[in-house]
Amino acid sequence: MNFSTKLLHWYKYNHRDLPWRNTQNPYLIWISEIILQQTRVNQGYQYYLRFIEKFPDVQTLAKAEEEDVLKLWQGLGYYSRARNIYYAAQQIISDFNGVFPSDYHDIIKLKGIGNYSASAIASFAFKQCYPVIDGNVLRVISRIYGISTPIDIDKGKKEVLSILKTLIDEQNPDIFNQAIMELGAMVCLPQNPKCETCPLNALCFATSNKIMHDFPVKTKKINQRSRFFYYLVIRLTYNNTEFVYLNKRTNNDIWKNMYDFPLIESEKEMDVAEDISFEIEKILKSNNYNLKKVSRMYRHQLTHQAISAYFFDIKITTPLAETTNFIMVPSSEINIYPIPKLVDNYLKDNCV
Ligand code: SF4
Repeated sequence: MNFSTKLLHWYKYNHRDLPWRNTQNPYLIWISEIILQQTRVNQGYQYYLRFIEKFPDVQTLAKAEEEDVLKLWQGLGYYSRARNIYYAAQQIISDFNGVFPSDYHDIIKLKGIGNYSASAIASFAFKQCYPVIDGNVLRVISRIYGISTPIDIDKGKKEVLSILKTLIDEQNPDIFNQAIMELGAMVCLPQNPKCETCPLNALCFATSNKIMHDFPVKTKKINQRSRFFYYLVIRLTYNNTEFVYLNKRTNNDIWKNMYDFPLIESEKEMDVAEDISFEIEKILKSNNYNLKKVSRMYRHQLTHQAISAYFFDIKITTPLAETTNFIMVPSSEINIYPIPKLVDNYLKDNCV
């Protein structure tokens, strides 16, 4: 049996039954593929079900409020995915008469869709012969073929793509793509590949030379940026209701269009007694305030950023000047707003 026959045979008897695999609806496939980027299947599964329940088709999604989409995405991270899905839904309505495009070259024009997602949608929904390349596929092919070119540069990716073009089953490009991704997710694992049960072990350069851990070859080291966030949880009791100030993040930065608290940010750790007090006074201006508590440090790791955050619980007795960019919301209603996981973690520990 050749590569493709072995792979498809293995997939037939070993694949996981996931809801987005039982459909050829491009909208559902699209949503599942975007959710599953940078998200494990176990975590993405519930998000997918909730998303398609609330937005069952592109029309419903296009008519929604962006904040509702972000709220549903809350906790998944990489929020630009949610914003792009929302914008792409508008594109499908305006540029494609509300019908999901069926050609790879049209699909890739949609916001947030790159080669990987376009190939996945074109092959899964429309049986077009485009190989998918994700981290799992890169690992499988680089091990089987012993590719020494780093797979995190274009040259390495092109090498993998040209191999896949010779392997893909032209009658079943959808199943071939699903199968090779599934093999990477279930068998050819990054740390402990299960070579003894792998259907492709007889063809594999890495396992025959016992150098599985030498592949895939990579060049880039991820540069980590440290950020220190000092959040002001400013509370005000007004007409017997407690309010808190939220800040809508409109800058081109992480968590765009989501809500957090008024923020003092630094690239270095600041001195609470001196630097932070000074910054708090700049934000609160002439308001009298009472600093009730400073939280423990909350750490939040993103791909390229390590965030250390503290939350300052502050009471004020008169509203902030209307010139500030913050909105005053009842404490009991914070959860209506899309908020980053870091802030949600603090709220879960502290009954705001
Ligand atoms: S034999 Fe091992 S290293 Fe090679 S593809 Fe299979 S699981 Fe991966």
